[in-house]
Amino acid sequence: MSEEPMVSVPCAQCHQRFGLPRATERQLRESGETFYCPAGHLLSYKPSKAERLSRLLTKTNAQLTRRAQQRNALRRSNAALRGVITRMRNAATREEAGT
Ligand SMILES: [Zn+2]
Repeated sequence: MSEEPMVSVPCAQCHQRFGLPRATERQLRESGETFYCPAGHLLSYKPSKAERLSRLLTKTNAQLTRRAQQRNALRRSNAALRGVITRMRNAATREEAGT
């Protein structure tokens, strides 16, 4: 049986330190999933500032992309409507001229 490397983790509530396999600790840190200390306190890692900012950046980029797409769609729609107006205006002008 191979020894898994352990890390010592303090409980935020009872301050008792306990061991977690390094891989488990990393996974809990990345996922933000909840876990329990040996005394039964519910714990979870808060996402780091870098992680929060990274998620915010991803979200903001997605919003910018969506807004750019909406803007382009509106521009195309405006151009199409301008074309309709021009054709109707020209038709009305021809009718007035009796041609
Ligand atoms: Zn505890």
